[in-house]
Amino acid sequence: MKELANFPYVHVLVLGLAKSGTAAARLLLQNGRKVRVNDKNANDDDAIVDELKSMGAEVVTGSHPLSVLDGVEIIIKNPGIPYDTPLLKEACRRDIPVITEIELAGSLSDTGMIGITGSNGKTTTTTLTTEMLKASDRKVKVAGNIGYVATEVAQSLVKNEKMVLELSSFQLMGVQTFKPNIAVLLNIFRAHLDYHKTFENYKKAKCNIFANQTADDYLVYNADDPTVAESVTTANSVKIPFSLNKQVKNGAWADDMSIYFKNEKIIDKAEIVLTGDHNLENILAAICAAKLSGATNQGICHVLRTFTAVRHRLQFVSNVHGRLFYNDSKATNILAAQKALASFNQPVILLAGGLDRGNEFDDLKPYLEQVKGIVLIGETKEKLKRVALEAGVPFIKMADKMDDAVQQAYDLSEAGDVVLLSPACASWDQYQTFEERGDMFIQAVHTLL
Ligand code: ADP
Repeated sequence: MKELANFPYVHVLVLGLAKSGTAAARLLLQNGRKVRVNDKNANDDDAIVDELKSMGAEVVTGSHPLSVLDGVEIIIKNPGIPYDTPLLKEACRRDIPVITEIELAGSLSDTGMIGITGSNGKTTTTTLTTEMLKASDRKVKVAGNIGYVATEVAQSLVKNEKMVLELSSFQLMGVQTFKPNIAVLLNIFRAHLDYHKTFENYKKAKCNIFANQTADDYLVYNADDPTVAESVTTANSVKIPFSLNKQVKNGAWADDMSIYFKNEKIIDKAEIVLTGDHNLENILAAICAAKLSGATNQGICHVLRTFTAVRHRLQFVSNVHGRLFYNDSKATNILAAQKALASFNQPVILLAGGLDRGNEFDDLKPYLEQVKGIVLIGETKEKLKRVALEAGVPFIKMADKMDDAVQQAYDLSEAGDVVLLSPACASWDQYQTFEERGDMFIQAVHTLL
């Protein structure tokens, strides 16, 4: 068992019993802390509740009574729980600090972490970096927002094994001492304002990725993103920029033909299989993080010549009678759909629509130029129809189900076209997850075949 270092608290409240909360509670109990666990939904007869009780935890389920705060020195909160719940407002009033489970992971990892954040591109960059290190025979494990609990992975690390941690703004908010040895900041767009309330708060959460870094650490950042470039001026770490537009000293950059790290050419763009300029940004960021962690050019190039996509992110599905089908179900916001549309030069049939979060879609209009048909699904159908009409999209169709949408898209298309699912909306109006939506799309495409 690894010792929890630099965690001076004894009485801890773990809020939310999902995977990360359970792992945090176990770790704290194993390290002799007094743990109270509180979950609004979990049942008292849950096996996990039994396990934690048998380890010595006090477990309160079914509601969030304010009394769970009594005697508590710090709260470890599930990233999904909003700060405006009455319990957390009261915690704030009582000056009880609120952190997330990554803080504990930081106390466990002694080999230095790579932390990756940004509004978009986190999973792709995390995966690319990990694959580049693996292909260079480095010991590495992936964790965090990508689906593996950071404290569990941190406990399993062997000597010299690195952890590549995908970090969301929800996880980074409230950071106290956590710091990755290599931080990557991809981009900062307006997002998650329902949770963070203001853009300033959101930006601050993102910048927590480097807030505790020192001159021994590295900060890889997107020099083309004005918000990022301005934000990193306060960092104490060694800055490693990346840019698609200009040659940057000390970092990764691209010209029309090739990609470079510092003065060294890494690969010709023509050899890279991943589609889209936004993915070139992710590639530059991953090259910086991987090179700083000892990856070889051979390992990096192998990944770039073979890595097609992360599932549901501009993932090539199939060629059906000359039509190229792409699944970008993870495009749950307008910006992601813009990036997907900008990735193709051919005519596109777009499948879009989903959960209505109250926003309009006018920002999509300039990207609909090469869209020759659009098939709309989900709650936002009518809003998107207005935008498509105003943009002059020649064919606009409506569908209730994914299989019908895919069939209609196929009927509108001809050989040489791209058929792209890039919904610009979350999936929760019709599906449990964006993965389920993407899988339905893939299934419907295979049925066409
Ligand atoms: P995240 O983990 O941050 O959600 P992903 O790698 O899962 O990011 O990609 C999500 C969506 O964001 C993709 O569907 C893609 O269209 C878009 N995207 C990916 N990388 C970038 C980037 N660097 N800039 C802007 N959009 C991006």
